[in-house]
Amino acid sequence: MARRRSNRCQGCEGNIDLDYKQYNKLKQFTNRSGKILPRRATKLCEKHQRQAAEAVKAARYLGLLPYGDEHGSAWR
Ligand SMILES: [Zn+2]
Repeated sequence: MARRRSNRCQGCEGNIDLDYKQYNKLKQFTNRSGKILPRRATKLCEKHQRQAAEAVKAARYLGLLPYGDEHGSAWR
């Protein structure tokens, strides 16, 4: 009920677009093993959650962020 301004995600607040170059920021949207956190954990809006997810994937591809469990054996 008394939930005010639930739509205040970090992205909207700073009016920023998330991309792979901000991988230091993206780290807060992943857990310790590098997996992308669900929206309820990131508190991002739909748009920015999607942006974050895409950006994390791009950053992974470029080696800026680790892959999650699903690629755990990639380097073995
Ligand atoms: Zn947003």
